[in-house]
Parts: sequence; C-alpha cells; structure tokens
Amino acid sequence: MWDFSTEPEFQSKLDWMKTFVREEIEPLDLVFDRPAHYYDVTDKRANAAIKPLQDEVRRQKLWACHLGADLGRPGYGQLKLALMDEILGRSLWAPRVFGTQAPDTGNAEILAMFGTAAQKKRYLQPLLDGDIISCFSMTEPQGGADPKVFECGAKHDGKGWVLNGYKWFSSNARWASFFIVMAVTDPDAPPATRFSMFLVPAETPGVNIVRNVGLIGEPADEGAHGYMHYDNVRLDDDSVLGGVGQAFAVAQARLGGGRIHHAMRTIGACSKAFDMMCERALSRSTQGSRLADKQGVLANIANSDIELRQFRLLVLEAAWIMDQGDHAAAVTAIARVKVATPKIFYDVVQRAIHMHGSLGVSNELPLQHMWIGAALIGLVDGPTEVHQITLGKRVLRDYKPAPGIFPTEHIPTRKIDAEKKLAKYLKD
Ligand SMILES: Cc1cc2nc3c(=O)[nH]c(=O)nc-3n(C[C@H](O)[C@H](O)[C@H](O)COP(=O)(O)OP(=O)(O)OC[C@H]3O[C@@H](n4cnc5c(N)ncnc54)[C@H](O)[C@@H]3O)c2cc1C
Repeated sequence: MWDFSTEPEFQSKLDWMKTFVREEIEPLDLVFDRPAHYYDVTDKRANAAIKPLQDEVRRQKLWACHLGADLGRPGYGQLKLALMDEILGRSLWAPRVFGTQAPDTGNAEILAMFGTAAQKKRYLQPLLDGDIISCFSMTEPQGGADPKVFECGAKHDGKGWVLNGYKWFSSNARWASFFIVMAVTDPDAPPATRFSMFLVPAETPGVNIVRNVGLIGEPADEGAHGYMHYDNVRLDDDSVLGGVGQAFAVAQARLGGGRIHHAMRTIGACSKAFDMMCERALSRSTQGSRLADKQGVLANIANSDIELRQFRLLVLEAAWIMDQGDHAAAVTAIARVKVATPKIFYDVVQRAIHMHGSLGVSNELPLQHMWIGAALIGLVDGPTEVHQITLGKRVLRDYKPAPGIFPTEHIPTRKIDAEKKLAKYLKD
C-alpha cells in the first residue's frame, strides 16, 4: 500500500509541536542566541527558561522520542520521528527542549544498546532525564574520517585502564558530565577489533581541554568543540562500553542514527529558509515589479520546492526502511541521505541568502546559522565523499559485469535475439 498521509491522532501532535516550537521555543533562539548556548547546562537563566517547556513536552509524551518503547518512550519509530524532527529543525533550541539533541541522542542509544545495568543507571538515566550533557570523543587532530590513523590509546596495567592521547572536535566537552572515548586497546589487531569505547566521567583527573574550538564566526576559545588531552586518565574495568575491542561496532551503531537525525532536522532548517525566500519574493519590489514576478526568482523557488520535496521523500523512505528492521537496506538508505543532506542545505540556504540581498548576508536573519550549518553537515559523522564511496559500493553489489565485450543493452547484439523471438511476425 502506498500512502503519504499521517493518521489524524499523530497529526494533531505534529500540529501542537509546530505551534509550540514557533511560539514558545523560537523566542529562546532570539534571546539566548549564541549557537553553542543551547548546550550550556551551566547557564542558569537559560535553564530556568527551558525547564517549564521541557516539562510541557514530557506532559505531551513527546520527550526523547528517538528512543524506543523498551526505554519507556512512546516508540514511534523513525518515520514518525522524521515528521517530528523536521519541525524541531526549524529552531536551534527545539532539540534540547524535546530531549533529542545530538550528540546526546546517539550517546543514549549506544548506552541503551551496549551498557551494563550499572552504566545505564549512572549515565543513561540522568541523560534521559535531561539533567546532564554528554560528549562523544572519537575524531583526532591528525584524522577524523579514517579511524586507522587514530593514536589515542588505553593500556591495562593490571589494576585498570590508563588512557592517553588527544581528541579533536569533541562537541560540548566543556559542559559534558561524561565522555565516550574511542581508544586503541590492541594496536596490532585489525581495525574492527583494535579499539574499545570508554565511559569517562568529566571530573576524572587527566581529562583536559586544550582549547574550546569555535566554528567560523565564533570568538576564539569560546566555541563548543573540545580539543581534548587525555593525560594518564585512570579508569576501572567497568568503564568499557560494549566489551574490549568492540568500539568499531558501537560507533557504527551510533553514527547511523545520528546521520539520519541530522537529515531530518535539515528538512526543517531548509523549510524555514524556503519560507523566508517565498515571503521575500512577495514582499520586495525592484524595477517596477515584485521579485516574485521575475523569471530567475521563480526558477529558484521552483527548484528549491522540487529539491526539498525530493529530499524529504528520500529521508522518509530511509526512515521507513529503518522501521522495517532490514539492517543492510537501512545502511544503504542512510548513506544516500547523508550524501544528499549537505547539498540541499547549501542550495536552499544559498538561494534564500541571495534573494534577501545585503540583508541576507547580514547577521540579522537566522540564515547566518543555517549557512554554517550547511558547511558542517557535510563533515559531521563523516565527510560526504566517504559516504559516496559506501553508497556506490553497496549499489554495485546488485550488478554484475556484462557477459561479453559489448554492454547488455548493446542494440545490435540484442537485436539478433529480438529478431529470433519475433521471427514469425517478420516473415511477410
Ligand atoms: C560541527 C562538528 C561537530 C563535530 N562533533 C564531533 C564530535 O562530537 N565528536 C567527534 O569525535 N568528532 C566530531 N566532529 C568531527 C567529524 O566527525 C570529522 O570532522 C569528520 O569525521 C571528518 O574528519 P576531519 O575533520 O578530520 O576531516 P578529514 O578526515 O581530514 O577529511 C577532510 C576532507 O578530505 C576529503 N576526504 C576524506 N576522506 C576521504 C575519502 N575516503 N575519499 C575522498 N575524500 C576524502 C573530504 O573532502 C573531507 O571533507 C565534528 C565535526 C564538526 C564539523
């Protein structure tokens, strides 16, 4: 059955979310307006402002909906999550108010999947309650897309693990209560079993932030991405998440969900840019007519409308595939979405900026955050090219080489067989 409609009961939740995000959460974007702000759990004024909103989200049973029914959530599944996340993607603060902000979502997922009962009690529960922020610390200064160059390592000295090394772009390190750190534990093993994942409380001696790296436009050392130095950090045996040598599998489980959740929110951000573009086209006149009457402007609106709808369908299809539980098909679908996400983000936001002229490149519109968002979305959870390679290889698994020197669709070759098949009709 093919159906593009949403059941009325769930649609009413989405309608409530749309109004709530617009009227109650977007004001936070305007007042607590530094992008990194929404992870700053030490900001008492912001905490006081979001607490009643988070309580309302809980009352509506819409808190942390990325998690399944096994964790006491409604367990809506990925398709419905996509419909929710595209609403949350319109606001910087909305994911935090709904308990679905990265990287806590992915961290909660792997704690739920791989954590022991004690690890879940200590780390997962406060994370789900929204009391703390966490950090995923995997990328290293000398390379992110290729884990084979990672050096940060942990050695067992008979009493426990000792973690040493540097990590890079560990988001929200400065506010995190704990870190999930991927470290080399068996340097001679193949990549699949070379690494282990460690749960590291922030207060552990030796957990040092070299610098808080900011994004383009942010002041030096005020950013949210920690350049980390783990300096002789002592950890007990219970700190390993998912078993010694299992970090690769844990990371893969985490990154798939993270990639599609970013894509879901990207639909929201692009829709907002698109709405702004349409409003501007109808509002601004130049040389005797509205922008909306100019052919080039209409082409940009038409192309953005088509591309955004295509992208949304791609994301919804991937979410639906994930809900079917076909892991292999889901990996392919997520790779497809990951490659498509930065392009749609860039294209729609760039057109929206351009249509607003000088106002578009000013710091007076939300387009400024989207612009950097478009650049970073192509890097977060792995650069586009890596996922193009994954997708291309997986697509080719369904094909085989042509049996002869000419392609299967070579007309003269096929025509010989076709003439044989249709010979009885060719007699006269
Ligand atoms: C906003 C933001 C938040 C982040 N948060 C975290 C976090 O919380 N924790 C964490 O561990 N990491 C985080 N990262 C890091 C992110 O995972 C890495 O940036 C990403 O994996 C790419 O690694 P790199 O930056 O070292 O780039 P590199 O690996 O050096 O790649 C640079 C470029 O080289 C090219 N390239 C790389 N590999 C290939 C290939 N196989 N084929 C063709 N071309 C290739 C691509 O053009 C790529 O963009 C974050 C990054 C950003 C931007």
